[in-house]
Amino acid sequence: MCPPGARAPYDARVSTDCLFCRIVAGELPAQVVHETPHALAFRDINPQAPTHVVVVPRAHHADAGALAEADPALAGELLRAARAVAESEGIVESGYRLVFNTGAGAGQTVFHVHCHVLGGRPMTWPPG
Ligand code: AMP
Ligand code: ZN
Repeated sequence: MCPPGARAPYDARVSTDCLFCRIVAGELPAQVVHETPHALAFRDINPQAPTHVVVVPRAHHADAGALAEADPALAGELLRAARAVAESEGIVESGYRLVFNTGAGAGQTVFHVHCHVLGGRPMTWPPG
């Protein structure tokens, strides 16, 4: 059963103290731009580019490595969802960057795996 206000399908493997689990559950607001049965994409609250969307699996996995180990098919769905976001945002032609910050030392602050989709401006390399 879905609790009131939850976005179906509700996944019982949510953690109530995880920010992105709470967004997935509909407990916190988000500007959703794309949904699949197992993934949700919403605008980053602190955008670093004209397009900055985070794509998360509905199920909780701490980071990209943990997700790939536990559920490779879901990792693939996350990448497909990221591509769909790039298409709907109109940044495929100009190019876009997918980022999985993994570990605090790499800048990960939310320990529910998420793919940043960044685009709409030139990207520099190396990243900061
Ligand atoms: P990271 O630093 O790679 O873990 O990315 C976490 C991202 O989540 C950051 O870019 C934040 O700006 C973003 N963020 C934090 N809280 C929210 C929120 N409530 N809604 C949307 N994005 C958020
Ligand atoms: Zn979570």
